[in-house]
Amino acid sequence: MKINLANIKKAKKFLYKNECIAIPTETVYGLAGNAFSDKACKKVFKLKKRPKNNPLIVHYYNYQNLKKDCKLNENFFKLYKKFCPGPITFILNLKKNSKVSKVVTNKKTTLAVRFPEHPVTRSLLKQIAFPLAAPSANISSRLSPVCSNDVKEDFGKKIKFVLDGGRSSIGIESTIIDIRNKPKILRLGGIELSAIKKILRRKLIIDNSPAKISAPGQSRIHYSPGIPIRLKAKKAKNDEAFLFINKKKVAKANYFFLSKKGDLNEAAKNLYSTLRKIKNNKYKSIAVAKIPNKGMGKTINDRLTRASKF
Ligand code: AMP
Ligand code: MG
Repeated sequence: MKINLANIKKAKKFLYKNECIAIPTETVYGLAGNAFSDKACKKVFKLKKRPKNNPLIVHYYNYQNLKKDCKLNENFFKLYKKFCPGPITFILNLKKNSKVSKVVTNKKTTLAVRFPEHPVTRSLLKQIAFPLAAPSANISSRLSPVCSNDVKEDFGKKIKFVLDGGRSSIGIESTIIDIRNKPKILRLGGIELSAIKKILRRKLIIDNSPAKISAPGQSRIHYSPGIPIRLKAKKAKNDEAFLFINKKKVAKANYFFLSKKGDLNEAAKNLYSTLRKIKNNKYKSIAVAKIPNKGMGKTINDRLTRASKF
């Protein structure tokens, strides 16, 4: 992808003034501010209408930049080497003299960190002297944005600048792993659990149950298109959109599919944009046909289950 240097310069200018901008990442677009600035981080929470107790993910260029803020360990490096930059978020212990704003973590002693792969955001991160606190660029609990237009749908002129990077290639949020002690998965996401297990060579504790909220991305009402969703549907009602994993032989106006051939990675990439299309086509509800619960299918089912609690 060609990087527009003038746009990166503009983005830098806003960030150095402690303004928030939207940035592209391979997972979803982020609403970014200087993670060392209380003022910028407060703006992120306010714009997103995000509860103060839901901490932000902080985006770094590389681990060398992170070393001053967090305590790193062997398991971190194993996963970093294999998956970073990429769609994985680590929960680490903050160092006492870390410069990360207390607003980011609501005074918690842990920090969620990620190294995004998107070339535009990597170029930006390389050029600035601070990491970026950047949760997804949507109003809290709504659908996550996978292109600059999605961001504009939620925020309009309230965001000073959207750094365009085209469509997000993964299209679904990062996998969150608490790597401080026994590795614990807090959110399913862009990297499959089997791939993580293979690197760590040990069992993973999965702690993403909707009932127990240790990462608010786990909260039940999340990722919602704002209309009811029913899962494992066999039929759709008259005014319902019918969502399938793969394309059907018969095409009906209310039929939507996530991947022509039922490829689960492609389906994950298309999930949010398809839900948004259905919402914008004014359907009143969505019936979702069964989706295989394996690989990225697990992440898709996780998001749809939470969205169905709306
Ligand atoms: P998003 O707002 O889409 O970027 O998602 C960020 C996710 O990371 C949310 O689910 C947060 O609750 C989670 N998170 C951020 N910081 C922490 C932390 N220190 N411990 C546990 N989860 C965290
Ligand atoms: Mg989010």
